[in-house]
Amino acid sequence: MASEQLPETDLTRHRRLREQGSLDRADLEAILDAGFVCHLGVVVEGRPLVVPTVYGRDERQLYLHGSVASRSLAGGTPVCVTVTHVDGLVLARSVFEHGVNYRSAMIHGEARKVTDPQEKLAGLRLLTEHATPGQWTYARQPSRKELAATTLLALRLDEASVKIRTGAPDDGDGPDAELGLWAGVLPLTSAWGTPVPDPSLPLETPVPPHIARREGTRHG
Ligand SMILES: Cc1cc2nc3c(=O)[nH]c(=O)nc-3n(C[C@H](O)[C@H](O)[C@H](O)COP(=O)(O)OP(=O)(O)OC[C@H]3O[C@@H](n4cnc5c(N)ncnc54)[C@H](O)[C@@H]3O)c2cc1C
Repeated sequence: MASEQLPETDLTRHRRLREQGSLDRADLEAILDAGFVCHLGVVVEGRPLVVPTVYGRDERQLYLHGSVASRSLAGGTPVCVTVTHVDGLVLARSVFEHGVNYRSAMIHGEARKVTDPQEKLAGLRLLTEHATPGQWTYARQPSRKELAATTLLALRLDEASVKIRTGAPDDGDGPDAELGLWAGVLPLTSAWGTPVPDPSLPLETPVPPHIARREGTRHG
């Protein structure tokens, strides 16, 4: 079965390095699922702000949250959200051809402030579970007061673009190949470490399995 394609719009059409673009919705979802930190770009009082923040998602929407005092979470204005994974440095013979192997996604749209209490709770659950599966039911869930202090934004995954670069430098078949220099890719990976207990915990408090089992597994 052919996978669903992302619509190409004026905003999402790649103009440079088009060959790195993908219209495959499965690629978008894989990039979103491999991370939990995005950068939210929004114009606030006439100036651009790019705010690192965590996210969660369902089939059709990305969820972002923060304090009700956050100016970047006002909602109702155009935003651009990016998610980036760096897979390696591409070290070519010439500095000009240096690059990065990466997977990145850019989502354009108007973020909507979620006001329905049920949807807000469900969105916060998605967000928590996206970063740490199992944590929503393990930890204490938000009180009414905490919910009131939290803004949740929903951004539809309708207008999005994906770019992926893999592989070797591009100058292996050019004149610089004669220089006799080393060239190639320096891969970059990140992995979860050993859980560090809060020093104030009673010594016998076990690390819950949903946290312990992530040690040593790849992130990104
Ligand atoms: C880690 C990393 C490092 C990079 N370093 C450089 C660098 O040093 N110099 C450089 O020129 N480029 C770099 N790029 C690529 C850069 O992100 C842009 O894709 C590229 O510069 C083209 O920009 P543009 O404004 O001309 O895009 P255009 O092609 O004009 O953008 C049109 C549309 O394409 C989509 N788009 C563009 N870039 C991306 C993207 N990365 N991911 C998803 N959708 C995208 C957006 O929807 C955008 O609105 C890097 C990318 C990553 C992820």
